[in-house]
Amino acid sequence: MKFNTKTIHSGQQPEETTGAVMPPVFFTSTYAQEAPNRHKGHEYARVTNPTRSALENLLAGLEDADHACAFASGCAAMDAVLKMLRPGDQVIATNDIYGGSYRLFTEVFEPYGIQFRFIDMSSIDAVRQAFTPETRMLWVETPTNPLLNIVDIAALSDEARKRGALTIVDNTFASPALQQPLKLGADAVVHSTTKYIGGHSDLIGGAVCTSHDEIYDNLTFQTKTTGAVPGPMDCYLALRGTKTLALRVERSCENARVLADFLAGHPDVGDVRYPGHSNHPGHEIARRQMSDFGAMVSFSLKKDDVDHAHAFMSNTRIFTLAESLGGVESLISHPASMTHASIPKKIREAAGLKESLIRLSVGIEDAGDLRDDLQSAFRSIAT
Ligand SMILES: *Cc1c(COP(=O)(O)O)cnc(C)c1O
Repeated sequence: MKFNTKTIHSGQQPEETTGAVMPPVFFTSTYAQEAPNRHKGHEYARVTNPTRSALENLLAGLEDADHACAFASGCAAMDAVLKMLRPGDQVIATNDIYGGSYRLFTEVFEPYGIQFRFIDMSSIDAVRQAFTPETRMLWVETPTNPLLNIVDIAALSDEARKRGALTIVDNTFASPALQQPLKLGADAVVHSTTKYIGGHSDLIGGAVCTSHDEIYDNLTFQTKTTGAVPGPMDCYLALRGTKTLALRVERSCENARVLADFLAGHPDVGDVRYPGHSNHPGHEIARRQMSDFGAMVSFSLKKDDVDHAHAFMSNTRIFTLAESLGGVESLISHPASMTHASIPKKIREAAGLKESLIRLSVGIEDAGDLRDDLQSAFRSIAT
């Protein structure tokens, strides 16, 4: 099956009792048993819920995984993956990383004795040098957030495997429509389904997809035991959103290309970060490991200051000033003061995150309208 067929059909069957084409939203906490422990496969909804199972089956199919485990949020999914570690273990992570991941790593897991090293993963050598006998996990984000650097998943998975470490890829930015890390050698994929998978900015959710039975067993043990499970309504929304994933991502990518070209030619723009441009340092790897270049575009202003960036963002009408990404609507944000404010300024600067950097999540509106919106924001801040 091709990807766009899988988004509709993977792991889906009409519901048994009624033939409903979409799975019902099973609002129940428990299930009747005929006799003690004689039941229809469900005992208690923290453990399993049929709406959740339908979503998990679909997501597993999209990542070509044997299993998927849904969580209450992307952060809960990451939290469960990290809980497979033990004190003394080390994780090598991408330095240009989602702010919430950085906070989870450094403020929750470091105090429990897990060590993190943040490395520019576009350099395989730098990663090689960071390995120690305690390294258990590579934590990869690509494209990275917010600089949209590209990390070579196949090369890094190889390095990790040789040293007995797992490779975990946070695939939220690309979505399975553009990149399938398990096929490139990764051991597990993490998603915030809040973003492209849900696609309509109307839910919070997460998932882990893997073909390792031990990882899957560990994760289902955790959902049963710690309970960070999504409710059935959110599962339904994510499932419904996923049906149009291929179409939405295709249109968003087309729009992003138009805007990235427009920005690259604009006199007030400093630099444009978009993996689809041939001068982007990760362009060749992106061509290999992604089927398109994504719908995220970041750029800095020639006049690199926070107030200037804030003024620009307050003057767009179609682009909504908001955190998050991956929805049908275009969003604009300022990483240094919003999503990445929890990363110390010194570390942000070392990673190349400029004060005026503006991040666009390009939606599925008309490309001309989006370009005109940016054009008029530039006019309104021109001095
Ligand atoms: C949003 C996001 C997360 C966290 O997901 P939530 O659903 O907000 O908890 C993790 N990683 C990336 C790359 C994200 O964009």
